[in-house]
Amino acid sequence: MRIDLHTHSTRSDGTLTPAEVVAAAAAAGLDVVALTDHDTTAGWAEASAAAEAVGIRLVGGIEISCRWYGVEPAIALHLLAYLVDPADAALHAELVRVRDARVHRAERMVELMRADGVDVTMDEVRGYAAGGTIGRPHLAQALIRRGMAGTVSEAFAPHLLGERWRLPKDDVDVFRALDLVRAAGGVPVFAHPRATVRGRVVPDELIAKMAAAGLFGLEADHADHTPAQRAEVRALAADLDLVVTGSSDFHGANKTIPIGADLTAPAVFEAVLAAARP
Ligand code: AMP
Ligand code: MN
Ligand code: MN
Ligand code: MN
Repeated sequence: MRIDLHTHSTRSDGTLTPAEVVAAAAAAGLDVVALTDHDTTAGWAEASAAAEAVGIRLVGGIEISCRWYGVEPAIALHLLAYLVDPADAALHAELVRVRDARVHRAERMVELMRADGVDVTMDEVRGYAAGGTIGRPHLAQALIRRGMAGTVSEAFAPHLLGERWRLPKDDVDVFRALDLVRAAGGVPVFAHPRATVRGRVVPDELIAKMAAAGLFGLEADHADHTPAQRAEVRALAADLDLVVTGSSDFHGANKTIPIGADLTAPAVFEAVLAAARP
């Protein structure tokens, strides 16, 4: 069984449609793929239908934009939520709020870019997002279009979207997110918890508190973790009695990592299924 529990489609900042993500998963020999677009379940229906057609299993997921407000400035972190009830009203309302906050933040980032002489408009950026959850990779497209960056990664340089024009989002308090996911019957897994390449990471004490608040697992095998960081995450998961997952965090052409680059053990996948409330 080949299982990849973290991918993105055009419903957020990936470049393949949900059906194309499933086709890519099948072509890579995966048996199970989770679609985990940022702050939305919008791709699930299309992905499920495509998965049924090609005979692989689609797991509905979300990568929720969270923040830990225990330090100043607060630290951003990502929570993967599997198998939630997409109709859960409280969770749905919070996702709508975060997506709206992303739009307002993108508007303010466009203003910062314009003040630096980049003639980008919000209409152009909305075009790149094409109705999906808006994020910095869509602003990156505007820079690529202007020759200011060759790739999305280059557009995340500190003097561009990485720091200079980066603004915080009004994310979900991580403990509220854990409550919402559990109340919606889902299974929460902390995405790339040691990815220092992305910025500050939360301390182990916070992860222990998250475990006590319903966290089910830690994503250990991820391209943004070094071998040493993967080992640290495994050790911490063992200490806290959490499962460990592995996944590609596939974004199509917006990143270089192929789908199926890292995988989750079948026994862990079974445990995730068993922990979800039907
Ligand atoms: P946002 O959620 O708007 O802050 O944008 C963050 C997204 O940008 C992440 O989900 C990644 O998909 C992408 N990203 C972050 N850092 C990089 C990077 N160095 N290279 C390419 N994509 C990145
Ligand atoms: Mn992303
Ligand atoms: Mn992430
Ligand atoms: Mn992701």
